[in-house]
Amino acid sequence: MSELTEIIKTRIAENGPISIGEYIHLCLGHPEHGYYINRDPFGPDGDFVTAPEISQMFGEMLALWLMQAWVDQGQPERFVLAELGPGRGTLMNDMLRTAETLPPFLAAAEVWLVETSPAMRRKQSAVLMGKNPHWANSIDELPEAPLFLVANEFFDALPMHQFRHTDAGWQERLIEVKDGKLAYTHGRPAQNPDLDEFFPMLPENLYAEVSYAGEDIAEKIGNRIAEHGGAALIIDYGEWDGAGDSLQAVQNHEPVDELHHEHGAADVTAHVNFAALARAAGAARTEGCEPQGTFLRRIGMDVRAEMLSNAAGNDEVVEEIMTAHRRLTHTEEMGTLFKVMAIVPKDAPETPGFEDDA
Ligand code: SAH
Repeated sequence: MSELTEIIKTRIAENGPISIGEYIHLCLGHPEHGYYINRDPFGPDGDFVTAPEISQMFGEMLALWLMQAWVDQGQPERFVLAELGPGRGTLMNDMLRTAETLPPFLAAAEVWLVETSPAMRRKQSAVLMGKNPHWANSIDELPEAPLFLVANEFFDALPMHQFRHTDAGWQERLIEVKDGKLAYTHGRPAQNPDLDEFFPMLPENLYAEVSYAGEDIAEKIGNRIAEHGGAALIIDYGEWDGAGDSLQAVQNHEPVDELHHEHGAADVTAHVNFAALARAAGAARTEGCEPQGTFLRRIGMDVRAEMLSNAAGNDEVVEEIMTAHRRLTHTEEMGTLFKVMAIVPKDAPETPGFEDDA
């Protein structure tokens, strides 16, 4: 049994059942044994591969989108270019390289990485050497300035709570210890007008999934963008609506049981409820969410893939580019499960990639 499994069980024995949110927080963020605290989970040797690790085209496209938003908003002279949960630093690195094509944008940008894991900070610092990044533990520490921000696969790692609707009210799903093992249970029914409003008629076998931590961060992004200007892109797996049971754990590219695994050695995540983030960011305007494949192709990824292929020089590299394009955009790969949502000031011009299909 892993040390973290012991710690989780002891906590439950001493304090009673824990919420799904507390469980996710312990699995990922325990100061000593949490999944993100010590290891580098990305890439072929890790547990999962994220979009920026698949291809440089991902960061290039997001940078073009941010640069367009910056131009549309009158090219603010100093702004915060922030990433939430930057992983290996690949996405920020690709974005900064792309930004070299628009020197005034680069000159105005102050790079901020919001990252809690010391191991990830070390990686980021090596990759972004010479780019003068600043680190913050939370969005609260960012300077008050126009905010241009990306967050890829960040919100799925935040604590999420599950509630089911019964005749007696809403019951939170909890985790207890039963016969020496972690097991699901439910809390006492309680009234919850917010859940009544946002999850009407929810059948008892589906959970309303609510991330207070995610909503809090989305609200802060919305408030900053409403006040100072800027634009944010949130990319993650999930749906507009957050009903179901999406808690999952992954180790070595394989799903493992979300309760019974080597705690601290598997990534534990949940789908993102974009409608809830959009409501929370309501001081600003949100666009989307759109499927990632649709968004990337609308903002020009086909053309970019073709340019790179023409410059590639050999068939092997062309093949790699085509495979990456497919993985990022195809419905059976990341193209549909992953969604993109933008946050911009209420009076900002329409942004590329989100126009109606009509
Ligand atoms: N965006 C990267 C990595 C996604 S994984 C990519 O696309 O490859 C999630 C990242 O968020 C990791 O870097 C993890 O250390 C960080 N993280 C997790 N919880 C966090 C929190 N509460 N605050 C800041 N960073 C967090």
